[in-house]
Amino acid sequence: MDHPFENRIWDPAETLPRRDLEALQLRRLRQAVARAGRVPFYRQALAAAGVAPESLAALDDLRRLPFTSKDDLRRNHPLGLLAVPRAEVARIHGSTGTTGRPTFVAYTRADLDLWSSLCARFLVAGGLRPEHLVHVAFGYGLFTGGFGLHQGIERVGAGVVPAAGGNTPRQVLLLEDLRADVLVCTPSYALHIAEVARARGLDPRRLGLRYGHFGAEPWTEEMRGEIERELGILAFNNYGLSEVMGPGVSGECRERRGMHVQEDHFLVECLDPRTLEPVAEGATGELVFTTLSREAMPVLRYRTRDLASLDRSPCPCGRTGARMSRVMGRSDDMLIIRGVNVFPSQIEEALLRVEGTTPHYLIEVARPGSLDEAVVRVEMRAGDFSDEMRRMVGLRDRIDQEIHSITGVRMKVELVAPNSLPRSEGKARRVLDHRRPPAT
Ligand code: ADP
Ligand code: ZN
Repeated sequence: MDHPFENRIWDPAETLPRRDLEALQLRRLRQAVARAGRVPFYRQALAAAGVAPESLAALDDLRRLPFTSKDDLRRNHPLGLLAVPRAEVARIHGSTGTTGRPTFVAYTRADLDLWSSLCARFLVAGGLRPEHLVHVAFGYGLFTGGFGLHQGIERVGAGVVPAAGGNTPRQVLLLEDLRADVLVCTPSYALHIAEVARARGLDPRRLGLRYGHFGAEPWTEEMRGEIERELGILAFNNYGLSEVMGPGVSGECRERRGMHVQEDHFLVECLDPRTLEPVAEGATGELVFTTLSREAMPVLRYRTRDLASLDRSPCPCGRTGARMSRVMGRSDDMLIIRGVNVFPSQIEEALLRVEGTTPHYLIEVARPGSLDEAVVRVEMRAGDFSDEMRRMVGLRDRIDQEIHSITGVRMKVELVAPNSLPRSEGKARRVLDHRRPPAT
């Protein structure tokens, strides 16, 4: 592709030769294990595994360390995994609670400083320059998205409009008046902003936006195309989770072929979620992270339940961190429909292949008798919703075929009027599964 901006690197550490990087990782891993040993939960787990920090002779010894799950965090609610005295806590955030009760994470001053610089790295990799103005439509609060990106933008020296989430017509006014160059939010919300701009008679491509940094929820390459067309921007993917740090764990460079994991601060593994053994190079598995530098709440081998693959081949941008693929979905988002594994992102991919549909959809699964039944409700594009029966049936059949060819499952497709499905200002909700009780 033609690169729209020059490749700038924020921190030379991003380009460390692999050998030097690995030596640094091993040094930091020993320190991280020593720090984790101050937490009773880890002290016990490390003792049970027979691991002392000095006994870590090579990076491969990572595999001797105990895992941490979301349930471990819940069992140590609210701050049982703190590795520093309470007085050293500079801030507390919480996970969104997409799949249950929110869990808290704590940061020291040094953690906050590191977090800002990690966000600065991926923002710069995706074109952010000090002269830009960035509109942040992520929630500011316990959610790590708003504050994380905000700090990173300030670290780069760019301007920031802390619009926060919600009140979409006002977001559009702000964009119109202030003419930010860059948009930060979830991918689904970016499309919603475009939609509301259109409804107000504005062409979203004329808002003056140039780039967008999107994350916090799974999205597809098709969705990227849609956002880029709608807003007339270049869209970059970034990834993170509060248990590990928040945004800044990985992000795309201008090549946009995977997100560079900031491996000097996070060790990443890609494991088979059943056997917990590494998958073959390049295969999809569950990502597992170990923090190397976090002070307040280090985590060892945190099981993200996010499914993706890793690519360690060199990247033309010069960054040496492994590139993780898009997250296909979370293992806990995976639907098993009549025995077949289906991810919401596969439905999204199918929909975006059919002209006239939108990426606004909701999958409902139930088991009225002995068989699972899935209904996919899909919103039509404004001009394409018609009373003409034949046309609508044709469209529905095409969607049905695409879904079947991608997932191997037949689902009932219902076309619904534009703007009739609920919109989210943060993470989109794609699935209603009536077979299991709602998350608490
Ligand atoms: P919660 O787990 O409650 O949603 P977080 O707000 O910390 O808490 O969200 C982190 C999760 O969001 C990740 O584990 C992942 O599932 C998802 N996520 C974050 N960034 C991306 C991204 N770029 N692509 C796909 N999923 C993402
Ligand atoms: Zn790169």
